[in-house]
Amino acid sequence: MARLELANVSKSYGAFDAIQNVSLAIEDGEFAVFVGPSGCGKSTLLRLIAGLDPISDGAIRIGADDVTRRPAGTRSVAMVFQSYALYPHMTVFDNIAFPLQMEKRAKADIRQQVERAANTVQLTTRLKDRPAKLSGGQRQRVAIARAIVRKPDIFLMDEPLSNLDAALRIEMRSELTQLHKTLGATMVYVTHDQLEAMTMADRIVVLNGGKVEQVGTPMDLYHYP
Ligand code: ADP
Ligand code: ADP
Repeated sequence: MARLELANVSKSYGAFDAIQNVSLAIEDGEFAVFVGPSGCGKSTLLRLIAGLDPISDGAIRIGADDVTRRPAGTRSVAMVFQSYALYPHMTVFDNIAFPLQMEKRAKADIRQQVERAANTVQLTTRLKDRPAKLSGGQRQRVAIARAIVRKPDIFLMDEPLSNLDAALRIEMRSELTQLHKTLGATMVYVTHDQLEAMTMADRIVVLNGGKVEQVGTPMDLYHYP
């Protein structure tokens, strides 16, 4: 858990300004949702926070730490992608364990943490299966468990439900809201789905053309569009 602060963050690709002077604080434990039309910079902003892409100007702080120049692996964030990005040749257990194995944690510790994360996302019975045997919703749960297991200060989710069918999307929405409560984590969630934003967010950040257009609670934005 930590506060996330973006101070005058800008990102250019050549002459194109994808993110322009964004300043924003997301409070410790808050569920923030980035919305806006395709190409407005939602994913880019998330990648900058994760450190997957270097920023052109400005600063990013997580808690008291200035992480602006820290590479991705050293920031206390975990990202969940729309495409799940699972390893097809590995079991569910090994997919979830992967970040801990990279840290060379003790075997017993890894087993305990993986089982706990799997339990949180209701995957305990599927640990020996490979991703190909799972449904879309279960695959996304594996990706979420792999993020939980690192105990990051901040969860970054980039359209995690977009590949699921409508019924499952609605179910996963409430599961993610519940997960957020259980973990008490700071969440930054990207979606182009207005309803998803309205039902899940503590605060919605509307982006347009790489700039923050509006920030408010779902009620604020509903009443004062
Ligand atoms: P969104 O997630 O809101 O749909 P993106 O953050 O993916 O938007 O993209 C914002 C803008 O930045 C788009 O115009 C996109 O084409 C551009 N962009 C994103 N990544 C790159 C890149 N690596 N190189 C050049 N332009 C990029
Ligand atoms: P550490 O191993 O770093 O000492 P703990 O295992 O004691 O941390 O967990 C710290 C907090 O995070 C606890 O309050 C615990 O309930 C919560 N927590 C950790 N992992 C999970 C998980 N997978 N699901 C739900 N809550 C978790």
